[in-house]
Amino acid sequence: MRGGAAIMTALWIFVAFATTAWGGNWSSGGGVAQKDANNAWFLANVDTVNYCIVRDADHVSASEELIDQMIQRAVAYWKDQFTFAQYDVYAEIQRTARQKFVHHPCPTQLDDALATMDIVFQFGVFTDNQKSYLRDPRDYIAVSVRTVYDPKQLRGKGFVYFSADSGPWQYSGEHLFNQGWSASNGGPLMHVLIHELGHVFGLPHFGGTFDVMNGGYPAFVLTDLGSKPIGPETVFNVFKPLEQFFAGVDREKIFCAPSNVQQYFKAFLQFFSLDENISCTRLRMTATGAEMHYKTSPNGPLTLGGILTFESALQYQKDEEQYVSSLGITADQQILPNPTDLMRLTGVPGPKVVSMLRSGTYRDEKTGNTRPVQLRIAPKEIRIGGLHEEKIFFDVFRFYSGGGGGPSNP
Ligand SMILES: [Zn+2]
Repeated sequence: MRGGAAIMTALWIFVAFATTAWGGNWSSGGGVAQKDANNAWFLANVDTVNYCIVRDADHVSASEELIDQMIQRAVAYWKDQFTFAQYDVYAEIQRTARQKFVHHPCPTQLDDALATMDIVFQFGVFTDNQKSYLRDPRDYIAVSVRTVYDPKQLRGKGFVYFSADSGPWQYSGEHLFNQGWSASNGGPLMHVLIHELGHVFGLPHFGGTFDVMNGGYPAFVLTDLGSKPIGPETVFNVFKPLEQFFAGVDREKIFCAPSNVQQYFKAFLQFFSLDENISCTRLRMTATGAEMHYKTSPNGPLTLGGILTFESALQYQKDEEQYVSSLGITADQQILPNPTDLMRLTGVPGPKVVSMLRSGTYRDEKTGNTRPVQLRIAPKEIRIGGLHEEKIFFDVFRFYSGGGGGPSNP
């Protein structure tokens, strides 16, 4: 936005928020008594989210243009993800990330930016107020703080703080990339933005290490693992569990035999009718199922062991739903039509993650024999089970996560 229109918009926004009190109920999630502390900042009653970006240009390697691109991509990610979120009640009003996110130039004074914008994305710069709230800003790779909340309109605003990636306010922590915000064309930046915007959209921490809403995810994507930092093309799904395995980075999984869980690996090999001397297997997903390949020595060639074919129909497993959040409300609220007293007490159930089951067959390449299999895919796990030689295998991968399991007799 430029010129007169920008000034008019800025004035309008300022007036809209001029009466809002500053400070007080700051909330960045977790352990807060305030009932609505973890609510999304915006529900579907908000059309537009106005934001600006402010950075310490000397100590933040990403340009404002790159940051803005990544903000827009992170918003687009959630727009897509929330399309697939499941709700029991008030789905329409609870669907977040539908707003238009509009980038404005930040007013020169940070306090003015905080007063006028819905979100200020701050990179390596903070006010005294914020510093006393964060204590040591370097402890955060990033943090989203909701500073104001209107319990009538169920609407908040705040800032998302990112540590600088060099200089005195660089994020602290072991083995983190230097100048991580511009690494891999903004890949780590986009992933951390996805995580923080997840909080803005009301999601708490959940899922495993590689899940975007895991508490350690921002550190994980910035950690130098001796390979290239994660790129912006690599995305994981939260509410589209099936896609996580079929279209995500996990298109193939290599399973090798760790010596301490040899017994479970044997069960795994047994299930797929593979020889016991196999050192590694590779499960590669295809559009309709998966191919199982194996190697008899670490540097040997891959041989096709068998093919998994799944029926196309997806089946929701109702007993495997998990609510990831709830919307805290009081009697003052004016957005939801008729919440029950129970909802006022416990909150309106928020989005839930649902696992999916696919049934199919496994065809052993050597003998041509087939057997029924079930594939269960949830945001946190992939499980293959089935019947083989009169044994029920609940989870042939269980050995891999070290959680016990293996075959059991009916
Ligand atoms: Zn977090």
